[in-house]
Amino acid sequence: MGRFERHKVTRIFKDYNCSQCTDYEHRKYLFASFISRDPKRSNIGNSFILLQQFLRLMTEQEQISVFDMFKIGVGPSSSHTLGPWRSALSFLESLKRNKMLLRVKHIHVDLFGSLAKTGTGHGTDIAMLLGLSGYDPVTFEVDKLTETVNGIIETKKLNLGSEQEISFEFKKDIEFHFAKSLDFHPNALSIIATFKDGSVFKETYFSVGGGFIVKEGENPASVGTRVQLKYPGDDSAALLKHCSNTGLAVSQIVMQNELSWRSEEEIRNGLLNIWNVMTQCVFRGAHKGGELPGGLRVTRRAAELNSKLTQGKKYKTFDEWKKVIRSGGNDFKYTLDWVTCFALAVNEENASFGRVVTSPTNGAAGVIPAVLMYYNNFINPVSLNTTAEEEAALLADNNIRFLLTASEIGSIFKKGATISAAMGGCQAEIGVSSAMAAGALTELLGGDPKQVMMAAEIAMEHHLGLTCDPIKGLVQIPCIERNTMGAVKAITAAQLSLNSDPSKAKVSLDDVVKTMWNTALEMNNKFKETAEGGLATNVPINLPEC
Ligand code: SF4
Repeated sequence: MGRFERHKVTRIFKDYNCSQCTDYEHRKYLFASFISRDPKRSNIGNSFILLQQFLRLMTEQEQISVFDMFKIGVGPSSSHTLGPWRSALSFLESLKRNKMLLRVKHIHVDLFGSLAKTGTGHGTDIAMLLGLSGYDPVTFEVDKLTETVNGIIETKKLNLGSEQEISFEFKKDIEFHFAKSLDFHPNALSIIATFKDGSVFKETYFSVGGGFIVKEGENPASVGTRVQLKYPGDDSAALLKHCSNTGLAVSQIVMQNELSWRSEEEIRNGLLNIWNVMTQCVFRGAHKGGELPGGLRVTRRAAELNSKLTQGKKYKTFDEWKKVIRSGGNDFKYTLDWVTCFALAVNEENASFGRVVTSPTNGAAGVIPAVLMYYNNFINPVSLNTTAEEEAALLADNNIRFLLTASEIGSIFKKGATISAAMGGCQAEIGVSSAMAAGALTELLGGDPKQVMMAAEIAMEHHLGLTCDPIKGLVQIPCIERNTMGAVKAITAAQLSLNSDPSKAKVSLDDVVKTMWNTALEMNNKFKETAEGGLATNVPINLPEC
């Protein structure tokens, strides 16, 4: 960066009191704020390159593990449900660490920005109740959600951290500040504990997408274990360089980096568990009918499609179901219907507070399972006579490779742009998940690292500008169908890249990441998870007053 450019960018951050800050997400948000508040300076602000260079100059490199990208949780939203839930758990940790938990008399929650605007539809208030009660989103029995939440609301009692019973009035003690946003990120919340002696303790959290949270005043770079990665990098150029220097595939580079955090056995077991949670979600969703909660009266469609496709054939378990699926052949329309069914199943589960895996978010959780189910059942199916154990062993390597590659592509988007719809609209969710799936599928189909990057680029290129406008703030319309589109685009992008020469490509993955971020900066806030534009305002809905 030249001296003049460095001066310009340093001044931007100084204007926003950020010259000492080392927080990656904070810098990105301030940069976005700077542009939107002062259009006269947009000629400076539009230079994404300047921002990237400045971030590299001033911050430590963001380190993202595959287990940060794929997190087991509860629907419907990673940023509006899982992030707030994890914030509440973090707040409980602070209380316990400071030996304050048993002195708490009262808790109040303030929700700001997008968390207020779409918090009811996204279950933010419910997540706060469960988090403050000390439940873990990974292990909480989702079948007990309604009963647990109703119990707190009706009794007006909340067992804080499962240790300290306090009075809690759901309608009063969770406050939605619809007209107020905090200066860090559109998804913000504060939790205030009042003690028996009248003193208070407050923490503010930002849910920055994909279930990631940032506590105010805390430098995320210092949170968790920082490690020396064997193959560090922020973008696809660095990744491709590592691949060409070593001859390793993308998934192998990622595996080497993951080994900095944990053993190979832990990585493999952890990823197989994630895949297991994803497949259970597909199976549950494909067998549940009825309407989704939330008042929109959206009919679940995965189960109906499943019964049309399986044509009354008998099965009981997931493994038997897969055999029925494979017995139908792999004609294009049949395959396409199944990809649709898999994606619908996950996102209908997500919309009904089911257990899902962020990939990279809850709203986009159906794309990756749908594409990997497509690969396992139609591209590389094991013989119908193979036992479940033999099949698990045969498929394990492929499933692990897929998740490792997909995670790295998601990380490139998180580092260079965003995976938060409140920052970048739906291109940051469905677009990123489609790019992740496209790249990962390409590797499994034999593509080289350049083709992997090309597939991810193609998938995102055709999601650029995609807005987030969920009707009634629920993660249902357009979200559920949109996962089917993301999955199909991923498959198309993989095929296109496998039939192309990446050396002739005009657009690189890094170009598209920059373009996505520029688009996010220019996108009207109405289309960033506020339910204030698009379908959310143009589709009439008749809801009972309550
Ligand atoms: S429109 Fe897209 S980004 Fe917005 S809530 Fe739905 S899936 Fe998420």
